[in-house]
Amino acid sequence: MENIDRVVKRLEPALVAFALGLILLDVYTFFQYALPHIAAHSGRPAAALHVGWSLLLLFNVLWNQLHCTFTSPGTTLEVHEQALHLARAQDWRWCRKCNRGKPPLCHHCSVCNRCVLKMDHHCVWMANCVGFFNYRYFVLFLFYMWVGCAYSAAVFWLHVPALFSLGEPDWESHAFLPFFMFIMSASVWLALSALLSWHVYLILTASGTIDSLDFSAQQDAARAAGRRWVNPYDLGRVANWQEAFDVRGRWWWLAWMLPTRRRKLGNGYVLPQADPGGPMGRLDPSMPLLRPGATGSYV
Ligand SMILES: [Zn+2]
Ligand SMILES: [Zn+2]
Repeated sequence: MENIDRVVKRLEPALVAFALGLILLDVYTFFQYALPHIAAHSGRPAAALHVGWSLLLLFNVLWNQLHCTFTSPGTTLEVHEQALHLARAQDWRWCRKCNRGKPPLCHHCSVCNRCVLKMDHHCVWMANCVGFFNYRYFVLFLFYMWVGCAYSAAVFWLHVPALFSLGEPDWESHAFLPFFMFIMSASVWLALSALLSWHVYLILTASGTIDSLDFSAQQDAARAAGRRWVNPYDLGRVANWQEAFDVRGRWWWLAWMLPTRRRKLGNGYVLPQADPGGPMGRLDPSMPLLRPGATGSYV
């Protein structure tokens, strides 16, 4: 297994470059082939709108990709040992490899060889682990890629028939690239639709890719015992969304998709929880976090 992890680590830069290359090829195809066609058929103002929209998408894709790759997901090794020790509660486990306490929802990543806070998964396309501090960048990358793929597939699809038309011999000789990018965008869009839906579901239910397995096992055990299992981190759908994207205030429904550099509030090892016996957990960062020692509870 260690060998595989080492190979994965070495392959990652190539995978990142490959993904980036495809994105840039898509952009090149758009500007080189689709845009002149739009300008010729729909006029310059329409073409200008397409340029603005495509650049906005490209900026958001690259911004979130960059920040997901270069933002540490948060690891227990980055937290002061004493702070970790003070926060330690009954439900914490111990990682022998890191030789440190392992908070709930924290997992040891064998590729990074460290315990990652609120780890979702290790992403080879980002060459980084996706966890507490960079999860929102990962989901926003998926989101803008999803929108971008739908847009480029639509643009190339609308213009592909014209590219093959007999009336425009110049286009004919160049039709391969837009057609190839149409197939590419449509395929990636389909794959991203599944992946993005999964992460939207995880966010709304306050779960994670790794933790969903653990949560469903706990749920099954509770059901077998005739009890109902409640996810202690489930603050309600809106609050879960706000927590995942670290947005507050009345504009949260818009702010979640805006590019941001601000470090996510919270520490990643003591996570906001809804108190099953009381009102839903508040997300005020100045407030002490609710019941830091609580685990999945049976009601
Ligand atoms: Zn560890
Ligand atoms: Zn990792």
